Amino acid sequence: MLEDRMFVIAGAGLAGAKAAATLREEGFSGRIALIGTEPELPYERPPLSKGLLLGTAQRDDAYVHDPDWYAAHDVDLRTATTVNAIDAEKRRVRLSDGDDLAYDKLLLATGASPRTLGVPGAGLGNVFSLRTLADSDRIAETVRAGTRLVVVGSGWIGLEVAAAARLRGATVTVVTPAALPLRGVLGDRLAKVFLALHREHGVDFRFGTRVHELRGGPDVAQVVLADETTINADVVLVAIGVTPNTGLADQARLPVGNGVLVDRHLRTAEKDISAAGDVAAVDHPLLRARLRVEHWDTALHTGPVAARAMLGQDAVWDRLPYFFTDQYDLGMEYAGWVQPGAAAEVVIRGHEQGREFIAFWTVGGRVAAGMNVNVWDVTEQIQALVRAGLDGHTADPARLADPTVALPELLA
Ligand SMILES: Cc1cc2nc3c(=O)[nH]c(=O)nc-3n(C[C@H](O)[C@H](O)[C@H](O)COP(=O)(O)OP(=O)(O)OC[C@H]3O[C@@H](n4cnc5c(N)ncnc54)[C@H](O)[C@@H]3O)c2cc1C
Repeated sequence: MLEDRMFVIAGAGLAGAKAAATLREEGFSGRIALIGTEPELPYERPPLSKGLLLGTAQRDDAYVHDPDWYAAHDVDLRTATTVNAIDAEKRRVRLSDGDDLAYDKLLLATGASPRTLGVPGAGLGNVFSLRTLADSDRIAETVRAGTRLVVVGSGWIGLEVAAAARLRGATVTVVTPAALPLRGVLGDRLAKVFLALHREHGVDFRFGTRVHELRGGPDVAQVVLADETTINADVVLVAIGVTPNTGLADQARLPVGNGVLVDRHLRTAEKDISAAGDVAAVDHPLLRARLRVEHWDTALHTGPVAARAMLGQDAVWDRLPYFFTDQYDLGMEYAGWVQPGAAAEVVIRGHEQGREFIAFWTVGGRVAAGMNVNVWDVTEQIQALVRAGLDGHTADPARLADPTVALPELLA
């Protein structure tokens, strides 16, 4: 039987597009409007800093669904359209195209936006951030052999673009206030693995410093650092993190912290409004913490969980955080979560120097997270160890480090 309920999804990224698909898979026969600011069909972002810059991936590969999927599933996809306001009392949303839609359920899947560099010259030409397909196209057009690229920030996206740019023949300098790349996420020992990798590929790092000013005109020509040293630059990538797009939730007076606050079912304080993906700060039942995870896997799975909960099912988001990166010939997956400030020990299984190993972070003897570098098909086993750790299981560090002990044996 067809029903006349209307579900509106604000944000047509991975979380939003997956939520729409799940609604149909679960048999929802009401109306679905999927509203997205970008002019593109919903797409996945990981290729933007990897395959699309390297020429190993095609644009079409990034799309979440085929172009004809939306009409075939009766999903009213409105691209280049923004949800401007929510009236939670009347359960209506106002769109930038002038339309005003009534909803029964609303999903906020508005993602996150890159932080900008608040220094003079930040608006010069060839100063980019990387969030959208259009950003990736611009970087691909401007970063060629011989281009002098300065990357501001030494997180995942900055390093992935640094790697792609080196492989395109550009000169790359990374500027960061940190003492090591990725130090905040990985700690000193593992951060040094990434530092060595990039140095071997000719990336120059400037640690412990900030960008003071960008000079040039109309395009950037120089990056001036806090100590007044200058770096000549043709292109600057600003990769200093993102902030969640909570504007709609703020306007609707929903509880917002570092993201839109949602329970384990991804519902906000307003029962008919849910949130998923990068924008959602979830009360995670297993980790017993509020988590906002900016990873592809989270968008992929929170969209469907939110959709099921919107249909009244007892759906819960209790997956462990998972992410991956590819830089040069290093492929890596990371699963689990180390509580910020926890005294974690690192145990390595395999060849750290040869970049073929698994690193475990243990807290109080329990495995909190694991990262496999150029070792494959172990993610589920690592996740099982982390789940066991959450149940109080401790792992002997000597056996964790011993590659002759199969990972499942550590659960015994
Ligand atoms: C370059 C890059 C590389 C990445 N690589 C990896 C990786 O290797 N591994 C990994 O785990 N993760 C990676 N990520 C992270 C991952 O892509 C994100 O976690 C994921 O895209 C989040 O999906 P989302 O649907 O929540 O948000 P988004 O993908 O940001 O989609 C949200 C959409 O909502 C739109 N929107 C915002 N406000 C409104 C509004 N009011 N009305 C309508 N539309 C609105 C936005 O324009 C956007 O299109 C990468 C991200 C980037 C940018």
